[in-house]
Amino acid sequence: MAGPPPKPWPTGLTEQLEPRVRRVLAPNPSPYTYTGTQTYLVGSGGRVAVIDPGPDDPAHIDALMEAIGDAQVAAIMCTHTHRDHSPAAAPLAIRTGAPIVGCAPLVLDDSGPRADASFDRTYAPDRVLADGESMTGSDWTLTAVHTPGHTSNHLCFALEESGALFTGDHVMGWSTSVIVPPDGDMSAYMASLDKLQSREDRVYYPAHGPQINNPRQLVRGMIGHRRQRENQIVRLLSEHGPLTAAGFVPRMYKGLDPRLAGAAEMSVTAHLIDLERRGMVGRSQELWTAQ
Ligand SMILES: [Zn+2]
Repeated sequence: MAGPPPKPWPTGLTEQLEPRVRRVLAPNPSPYTYTGTQTYLVGSGGRVAVIDPGPDDPAHIDALMEAIGDAQVAAIMCTHTHRDHSPAAAPLAIRTGAPIVGCAPLVLDDSGPRADASFDRTYAPDRVLADGESMTGSDWTLTAVHTPGHTSNHLCFALEESGALFTGDHVMGWSTSVIVPPDGDMSAYMASLDKLQSREDRVYYPAHGPQINNPRQLVRGMIGHRRQRENQIVRLLSEHGPLTAAGFVPRMYKGLDPRLAGAAEMSVTAHLIDLERRGMVGRSQELWTAQ
């Protein structure tokens, strides 16, 4: 995880990235959101889509309304329901009359508590897109690509006309994706990286951080990075004996921002659960053991 770039950031401004794609940065920078959440507007004609409307912040919603101008909003689309992505959907729907379309609401009771404080419980879509389903406007087609892992309901959206993929929090250039069990799932995340690796997208537009012009190279690197983390976990267990998840963090993350220690412990836990499923580690209460 990296620190943010030097200011100024383009908060509240509309940036044109390509003929059909514009971006507006929300005022919510943090160690988890980098410079803030980036909301994308897709479409150059009279009907646009809004991707990841962001936090329910009046200044951000005003900036989006200004960027929308006279266009009709065909859909407000959410990649997932973390609080920095979807809470502006409802107020924006009221102001524009547009439907909320995209990821499923989280199923909270299918196998115990799957939600934590970072989830937006207000999210209520008018239509859920399954993998491969599309929305269309005057000059755009956005197709859902189900990419569970960061969250179980995570979708990317592919802009068919230009080869761009809106990757939400699944793949970002500034940081690896945080996987928080039980809803975050490392096995699913790795499968979703493989899924992107098999596609031929030209550019990624993530919800945080700069656009990615070498998508396959970045995804390949991320798969390698996660495999290295796995190997490191297995090696630490064989060298040090049983460890708690927290016990791995100082050994694996040198120079970590202390504010991110909790997220690092969650990522280690996500790896351990994945390794346990594959029979490579065991556990006895809080202690993880070599197998
Ligand atoms: Zn997220």
